[in-house]
Amino acid sequence: MKHIPIIPVPIEETELALFEERRKIYPRSQTGWFSSWRWVLVFFTQALFYGTAWLNWNDRQAVLFDLVARKFYIFGLVLWPQDFIYLAVLLVISALSLFLFTAIAGRLFCGYACPQTVYTEIFLWIEHKIEGERNARMKLDASPMTARKFSLKFIKHFIWIVLALWTGFTFVGYFTPIRELAIEVGNFTLGPWETFWFLFYGFATYGNAGWMREQVCKYMCPYARFQSAMFDKDTLIVTYDTARGDPRGSRNKKIDHKSQGMGDCVDCGICVQVCPTGIDIRQGLQYECIACGACIDGCDQVMDKMGYERGLIRYTTEHALTRKLDDKAMWKRVFRLRTLIYGSLLGLIILLAAVSLAMHTPLKVDVIKDRGMPKITEAGAIENVYRLQVMNTQESARHYSVAVEGAAGAMIVNSANIEVGSATTKAFPVRVRVPANVLASGSNRIRFVVKDIDAPEVTVTEKAVFTVPR
Ligand code: SF4
Ligand code: SF4
Repeated sequence: MKHIPIIPVPIEETELALFEERRKIYPRSQTGWFSSWRWVLVFFTQALFYGTAWLNWNDRQAVLFDLVARKFYIFGLVLWPQDFIYLAVLLVISALSLFLFTAIAGRLFCGYACPQTVYTEIFLWIEHKIEGERNARMKLDASPMTARKFSLKFIKHFIWIVLALWTGFTFVGYFTPIRELAIEVGNFTLGPWETFWFLFYGFATYGNAGWMREQVCKYMCPYARFQSAMFDKDTLIVTYDTARGDPRGSRNKKIDHKSQGMGDCVDCGICVQVCPTGIDIRQGLQYECIACGACIDGCDQVMDKMGYERGLIRYTTEHALTRKLDDKAMWKRVFRLRTLIYGSLLGLIILLAAVSLAMHTPLKVDVIKDRGMPKITEAGAIENVYRLQVMNTQESARHYSVAVEGAAGAMIVNSANIEVGSATTKAFPVRVRVPANVLASGSNRIRFVVKDIDAPEVTVTEKAVFTVPR
């Protein structure tokens, strides 16, 4: 029998990390058309967020989601739990808008209006102002801790934390009247929930925009994962024109690079240095790209210096590149059937929601019938008792008249005029009397008509059942 020698081989233990180690990104600051638009949106969204919370309307906060009182105030509109359909409509509009913009121009929302991008941009700007441009920041991080480094880092984090806490405070200010909240913060008398959300939202801003940055987009945001399902070959994406740019290489500005077989890319790396997610767009579309356009601005400036045509990196579509479509043909395909369907649906839903809001009656009535037996008066008339729950959604006290219809001679025995305070609900007992022999025995349909005395167009009719004993 043949013996096969078995020689033990020492096993080298290796440890494999489940996650790629983070390489810190130091985006170079960038100016240009797309960068300016990004800043316009930063200013616009933040002015809206920080400013709206302080606006007043009718002696109260203009936008307030009062969860305790279960009322949402949005300028002149007061929404009650019954109006939550509008919240559902708002979610549908947001989802359809996202579908539409993604089908047209990919991750446009991510690059320009997503809070993660907006706060990262602001935090980066602060970092840039305190620690300097990309190279200075890299040098500072690589250097040992000194008094200067410590003070720069301390100032940066201090400003970041103040801004993050102000963001958390503003967020809570949409749920608790912000002026009262400011007094509570000043007096250290914040309630436990307010304290929790104030700190939670504040430190989430600090952590996400100061530390995690592009990692939120890469690893935490679900939109990055499913956006590809909404893309097709006619979606505008940030693209490097390989046919024009390659072969890449540095060269003297004065040479005729084409005669030497070179493309337009001078391989300067600016497009990579300005990228907030640290990718090289020349390697093709990657899910990390948030379509911010910083690389377009960077590359256009290089093209200007070299005297080449702009647009080596640009917003374009796959079809435009492969089929060499001109701008007109490309835009025609961008507004294709799919985007037209999304757009029409969106327009229709917005229109319906606007009409419904415009016709929104600021009065709601619920009728609850008393379970007791109907009362028969000496004259043989029959009385049923109801409870009318009247909701006045206007911000002034209103007087209403209550009438009953559907039975000849039917009348309300107790007061037919009621008053309901501003934005409140009040319940009223109502006794309805119907003369003898008007209605058949058993259940009969009647209607309550509640009318605003000063604005008769505000009228609500509610059905009810009137019982006649057998
Ligand atoms: S590749 Fe260009 S567009 Fe995409 S994230 Fe980087 S800089 Fe922005
Ligand atoms: S910025 Fe333009 S020229 Fe420079 S490496 Fe990027 S693609 Fe090439």
